Amino acid sequence: MSSLDDINERRAKEAARIRLALNKQRGIARSNIKGGEGVVAFVKEELCIGCDQCDIVCDDDAIEMYKVPLRSPLMKVESNQKAKIIRDNCTGCRLCVLACPTDAIIMIDR
Ligand code: SF4
Ligand code: SF4
Repeated sequence: MSSLDDINERRAKEAARIRLALNKQRGIARSNIKGGEGVVAFVKEELCIGCDQCDIVCDDDAIEMYKVPLRSPLMKVESNQKAKIIRDNCTGCRLCVLACPTDAIIMIDR
């Protein structure tokens, strides 16, 4: 069984890997997404699969995961999770938009 230290170490490695991948595509992708102080990230709940990638890349503690009841009766886990944005902390940096595999995050006007 993994210890908390193991998990934190793996999480840090994964964050570094994602950061590297994002850096490669950031220039082009970022220029197409509205960012900055006037906008804030927004999660489309129906598209969020709770993968936690946005939470890993957000440097500003602006994303929180919350538990939701699992919708599929076929999977035997008691809860699933989704991301939500803490608006006051969001700097509009757009990293979460680039990290989300399901395009669940958009930037909206504040
Ligand atoms: S836009 Fe930046 S600061 Fe805001 S939630 Fe996404 S990663 Fe965090
Ligand atoms: S990266 Fe996208 S799908 Fe994954 S938890 Fe965040 S919003 Fe949901």
